[in-house]
Amino acid sequence: MAAPDKNAIRILVLDDEPLMLEFLADTLGALGYSQVTTCGSGYRALSLIESPGMDIVLFDLKMPELDGLQFIRHLKGRDFTGSVVLVSGVEDRIVQSSEQLVRAYGINILGSLTKPVLPQELDRVLSGWSPPDSTIATAAEPAYTAAEIRAAIASGELVNFYQPKVNLMTGELVGAEVLVRWRHPVDGLLAPAMFISAAEHHEIIEALTAVVIRQALEQAKAWKANDLALDLSVNVSTDWLSDLEFPDLVEDLAARVNIAPRHLMLEVSGGRLIEDIRVSLEILTRLRLMGFGLCLDAFGASSLSLAQLRSLPFSEMKVGREIVTGAWKSRNASAALESSISLGKQLAVTVTAEGAESIEDWQFLQASGCHLCQGFFVAPAMRAEELTGWIQIWQKRYREGLAPAA
Ligand SMILES: [Mg+2]
Repeated sequence: MAAPDKNAIRILVLDDEPLMLEFLADTLGALGYSQVTTCGSGYRALSLIESPGMDIVLFDLKMPELDGLQFIRHLKGRDFTGSVVLVSGVEDRIVQSSEQLVRAYGINILGSLTKPVLPQELDRVLSGWSPPDSTIATAAEPAYTAAEIRAAIASGELVNFYQPKVNLMTGELVGAEVLVRWRHPVDGLLAPAMFISAAEHHEIIEALTAVVIRQALEQAKAWKANDLALDLSVNVSTDWLSDLEFPDLVEDLAARVNIAPRHLMLEVSGGRLIEDIRVSLEILTRLRLMGFGLCLDAFGASSLSLAQLRSLPFSEMKVGREIVTGAWKSRNASAALESSISLGKQLAVTVTAEGAESIEDWQFLQASGCHLCQGFFVAPAMRAEELTGWIQIWQKRYREGLAPAA
């Protein structure tokens, strides 16, 4: 592919130092980049990246009102599809962590520049730019509008499915993960992957999750009335974990149906907890104090450090399917699985494996000392009314030696 025309690339330079802006704009002009906009404020920059759409944003990590890390988070929130270049005068380690954060958000990074910026370095980094893949950009567009999702919530089209979690040593059913489906009148039964990111994008994930939690608690109450005590886990978007009112809301929902908090587990993914670890820590700790379970979802994929893991009050950790399914036949996956399980044990939390799909997976998890297991080998997610029938089938399968105890 021919090198892109420098005159067609829209570049935004963000720095709080006017001299730096002037220097970078002049240098870019001399290098042949003619569409350069400069900006001294992070907030104003955010409005500039949206229209007409910037291809590259060069920004300083250290800025007063909105620093580089906050700026990155805002870029992510706005589905920025361009590329970024970090410019800084700070030490390497911070630049490296910032680069990691940018990548963790799925934003394309061309490279980092250290002040004073050398023109040839700037040219080298920018030469790595290529137009974003338009197919990816459209795939990232939320498929459903805010109004459609709101209508689905209001008309009761969201239905909870339940995927059983069983004890690997005893085969006992201990709980279920709640997985919401959307019974769409035209598009059929939709898995969460089809609409959760749209709900997050439109900022109605809280309303949606509140419905999921309320329905799950009502279901737990109905099962309890039939002598079936199940601990239910609900996936909670990290977006909500910066809302200081979240714990009270969940406590209120549980109190209304008279379900003890210990029967409700909130599953959160670790990746974005570090954005503001103090707020997350406060909210998670309050939830634990109220008695709710807290599960770190897919923790192998999270970028939390051991120290952060120790400081966060999780009661359970989930090992994701990517290192569970077929781990018995892969040296890398089995090593990752075993170290995840042993880390969970060191942290004294319950370890649940997702994605057990065969008797070999089951046996390998059992031998590795994992506590709980969910996956197609045990059962797919099912409607609440199917669960009692499934329990009979499972107990029979288990009795007949499907999964012999180690
Ligand atoms: Mg989950």
